[in-house]
Amino acid sequence: MTKVLHRTIAHDYPVAESGQGMVIRDANGKEYIDASGGAAVSCLGHSHPDVLAAMHAQLDKLAYAHTSFFTTKVAEELAETLIADAPPGIGHVYFVSGGSEAIEAAMKMARQYHVERGQPQRTKFIARLQSYHGNTLGALALGGSMARRKAFGPLLIDVHHVSPSFEYRGKRADETPEAYGARLADELEAEIQTLGPDTIIAFVAETVGGATAGTITPVPGYFTKVREICTRHGILLILDEVMCGMGRTGTLHACEQEGISPDIMTVAKGLGGGFAPIGAVLLANHVYDAFAKGSGNFMHGHTYLGHPLAMAAALAVQKVIKRDNLLANVKAQGAYLTRRLNERFGNHHHVGDIRGRGLFQSIEIVADRGAKTPFDPKFKLHARIKAEAMARGLMVYPSGGTVDGTSGDHVLLAPPFIVDEQTIDLIVERLAEAVDAAISGLS
Ligand code: PMP
Repeated sequence: MTKVLHRTIAHDYPVAESGQGMVIRDANGKEYIDASGGAAVSCLGHSHPDVLAAMHAQLDKLAYAHTSFFTTKVAEELAETLIADAPPGIGHVYFVSGGSEAIEAAMKMARQYHVERGQPQRTKFIARLQSYHGNTLGALALGGSMARRKAFGPLLIDVHHVSPSFEYRGKRADETPEAYGARLADELEAEIQTLGPDTIIAFVAETVGGATAGTITPVPGYFTKVREICTRHGILLILDEVMCGMGRTGTLHACEQEGISPDIMTVAKGLGGGFAPIGAVLLANHVYDAFAKGSGNFMHGHTYLGHPLAMAAALAVQKVIKRDNLLANVKAQGAYLTRRLNERFGNHHHVGDIRGRGLFQSIEIVADRGAKTPFDPKFKLHARIKAEAMARGLMVYPSGGTVDGTSGDHVLLAPPFIVDEQTIDLIVERLAEAVDAAISGLS
């Protein structure tokens, strides 16, 4: 009997034993194509020899040094690499151990920034519905998945939510994408006016949404307007690129494609590619300066900040991505994946939407395509699809529709950046079989 509290208690998990490239092998020798990089994490696939070598070399020198005593060469080098390729105005990095930690640090950094500047009355955050920012209490409060928040509501700080840019579910039929983006920006502006512009700390958004409603891409011009609104009111813009960042959408940062820079940005998953737990907060020079000219201290910290092994892993992952020009492969294979998904699911009765950017793609499953009606959440269709896919040796990342019916079950694909066309063909075929088997199992 297991002594581990697993995610789903009454579920038999296969035992993952080894991994190589695109594949994870279980203890029975069965192979699974990793078409989701776990949860959009394993950007180089598994057991990349160059990353393993860098980690071994670091371990041989030093495994751990507390950041209140030391910095390390490897942390400084990783920070330099990240800043060299960061959006304009971003000049500093704060290292943590994962996505939720990055979000918590970003929230506190944003709050302290205003305190340092003599604006302690700024106490509120605005975030978006159908978003995901992590599972710790601050991150959960930001998140717009009402199902995830339900049990913890009384413990969560006050965060106000506006609509995300979610074309399939939010854009009216008679509206252009630009008009839709303008309407969303007006909604944000109105919320800011209702709350009082000088009471707001920050607006937080995933540049491309991920874990709650599948990959949702912003309409053109939406983030330009958001940026302008935040700047005008002195509200910080925090972009959460924990899932969509570090190359996943074809550029190192998803916000490059929006032509904007945030004040604070969180990255994690693809930063270390799963070789070690790591996350980072990237901050603009003016945010750093507020601390440097103010108290001189960010009132935060964890035991494992800047862990040398995680730094070495991430530095090696980022070097391989550059050396092997893998972002070009993300673009090319992303286009191929989009094409294959459209060929296979474009006319599927139960696929309402195919969406995403780069190697960050989703299909949304609906009961009725015309009316966009989701399947009843009680079927847990997403879990059935996952089980059918695993039975066929395929890892995909499905999630349920939101309980309030504002989106259907979806399946997220985020294969490693090393994926090729042949493997994409296999992924799409196995996924189609899994979706059909799961749906036919409902009747
Ligand atoms: N933000 C986003 C956008 C995410 O997708 C996730 C993880 N799915 C998180 C934050 C939280 O990251 P972690 O699970 O590493 O705490």
